[in-house]
Amino acid sequence: MTEALQDEEYDRPRLAASGPVRVRVPAKINLYLGVGPLRPDGYHELQTVYHAISLYDELTARRGDTLTLTMEGEGAGVLALDETNLVIRAARALAEHANVPAHARLHLRKQIPVAGGLAGGSADAAAALVACDALWGTGLSRDELAGLAATLGSDVPFLIHGGTALGTGHGETVSPVLARGNAWHWVVGIADGELSTPHVYREIDRLRASAAAPPRLTSAEPLLAALRQRDPAVLAAALGNDLQAAAISLRPTLSVTLRAGRDAGALAGMVSGSGPTCVFLAADGEHAVQLAATLEEYGVCRSVRVAHGPVPGARVI
Ligand code: C5P
Repeated sequence: MTEALQDEEYDRPRLAASGPVRVRVPAKINLYLGVGPLRPDGYHELQTVYHAISLYDELTARRGDTLTLTMEGEGAGVLALDETNLVIRAARALAEHANVPAHARLHLRKQIPVAGGLAGGSADAAAALVACDALWGTGLSRDELAGLAATLGSDVPFLIHGGTALGTGHGETVSPVLARGNAWHWVVGIADGELSTPHVYREIDRLRASAAAPPRLTSAEPLLAALRQRDPAVLAAALGNDLQAAAISLRPTLSVTLRAGRDAGALAGMVSGSGPTCVFLAADGEHAVQLAATLEEYGVCRSVRVAHGPVPGARVI
């Protein structure tokens, strides 16, 4: 069901770009997120199935004398644009790796919500690696970029590759899943506010140590088998996220959002990653549009978006 990572269709720029480089990067959802034990290094062992969806951030890189970042959209005015920002950290990591000066003017147009369980920050780091690689002509392979990506965050390597992929380790080891060309249709319910990923992981540990320990997922196999079929109802029955109980425990209103999705006719609904975004599976593109309109009317989300997946990872456009 998995195949070796390929470098196909990735054109490796070897010359520095003279004009601006624009990179588009998707959000991710986890079709399956099985959380194992807490490891001594502070991460949890994971078995996850990542899925890239058509909700995008865009990063433009231009030549500059220093390294600067500006932004618009989700998180603008709130996200720090200094050395702590994952975009800046990614650009610096690449410059150091390739032994080139970290000189670029970066501008981020953000649609993926911050701390929403859609890996927005990781997506921006992946975009920065791909954009600066093209701007500086450092010519790293996609696998080399994914290696650097793993030093920046658990989800960053997946966002270099995109598609649908099995993630293991703490999420940084990815291998593509053969998805038979299926397209799946989603409605993304973006919640007000944020949930901190470490906080949600701490909450699942706390719940598991309590009398009310939630049931655990045991295997990604049924989900992987469902992906090989073309039936969204089969996929709906196989979706699962161990972090959902923790996200709902921290934000009980998420169960209202999930119920609203079911009432609106979703085949399935679940918290995306560590939340608070909820995603709903639709039967097809038309159903997704109807479902989104109904959810919008219910007023349970800050904003509602339609998306499909899988889509490619960070790419120059
Ligand atoms: O790798 P990333 O920076 O996205 O992880 C953020 C935090 O989420 C980690 O510091 C850790 O607290 C938690 N985490 C975890 N297990 C994972 C991934 C993340 O506990 N597999």
